[in-house]
Amino acid sequence: MSRFWSPVVQGLTPYVPGEQPKLQNLVKLNTNENPYGPSPAVLAAVHEAVGDSLRLYPDPNADVLKDALAAYHGVARNEIFVGNGSDEVLAFVFQALLQHEAPLLFADITYSFYPVYCGLYGIDFVKVPLTAAMEIRPEDYRQPCGGIIFPNPNAPTGIGMPAAVVEQFLVEHPDAVVVVDEAYIDFGGESVIPLVKRHPNLLVVQTLSKSRSLAGLRVGFAVGHPDLIEALDRVKNSFNSYPLDRLALAGAVAAYQDEEYFQQTRGAIIASRETLVAQLRDLGFEVLPSQANFVFVRHVREDALQLAQSLRERSVIVRHFKQPRIDQYLRITVGTEAECAALVAALREILGAAP
Ligand code: PMP
Repeated sequence: MSRFWSPVVQGLTPYVPGEQPKLQNLVKLNTNENPYGPSPAVLAAVHEAVGDSLRLYPDPNADVLKDALAAYHGVARNEIFVGNGSDEVLAFVFQALLQHEAPLLFADITYSFYPVYCGLYGIDFVKVPLTAAMEIRPEDYRQPCGGIIFPNPNAPTGIGMPAAVVEQFLVEHPDAVVVVDEAYIDFGGESVIPLVKRHPNLLVVQTLSKSRSLAGLRVGFAVGHPDLIEALDRVKNSFNSYPLDRLALAGAVAAYQDEEYFQQTRGAIIASRETLVAQLRDLGFEVLPSQANFVFVRHVREDALQLAQSLRERSVIVRHFKQPRIDQYLRITVGTEAECAALVAALREILGAAP
């Protein structure tokens, strides 16, 4: 704290991301990264961009990437906004579209960045409790609001909603922007990008950090009606005209050109998740139904924080949240088959189960 800090900064509680330990040889299942590397086509494209023209500014409009995304998702270029990871895209969304008199609505258990952005941009919000089954339900959002935001599937629960349920939000709140954060959509969920044409109040946000394995490159995007996209562009252009660097642009475009690799790796993650869910249930865990690349689990007997510490002693890192209602849960990223096997072996040892 210093006398130079503004009152807003004094009141901020910054988001603390999962730890990125420096140690090697850890089974790192705490931040939902993709255990497989990005497509070899991405690496080749980034190498080429390095050798090419780093002295030049990148395209401020990121047209090549927008065209690749537009073709892939069946929308127009002016229905797409790109940014430096979906966290940055969301920051622009909060500034451009969610600063209204009425409060923003989001779930009490959801992505913890949302209240952070509200604090930063002075946005009022109301937290709507998840149901007993930890679900987001449109009925609970029938109240005056200036916008609604939720991840689908939700984080950290992993529970997804079918597109028809998401559409209920859009129909019931025609005067509010509904932001659907689809960070984990490719692991079994149903994207609502096709609904953008019918609903001018829908903004879908996706990232290349998870299913495309490019967390280190920082690329995310939003899809919505051109009027919503224009609002985001206005804020972005008042802040930084060059949101994506040349390497990110080259790598991101290449990621959408290797569909086979994408399908193969996301399929492998979904298959590992199903095996892991069965093994965790055998070990006495209650596992919420996951459509993401992580599972959210609670042991019938053991304390979650204690379990996380015991796993850490065995070089396996998972995520524990010190938050009421979920402090007995662990969020575990689905790793490679070998990483999942190491996790299960460590848990067997901790729980004294037969190998
Ligand atoms: N939304 C949700 C729900 C997330 O869990 C994450 C990852 N922490 C993000 C957005 C942001 O991802 P990125 O900035 O890497 O695109």
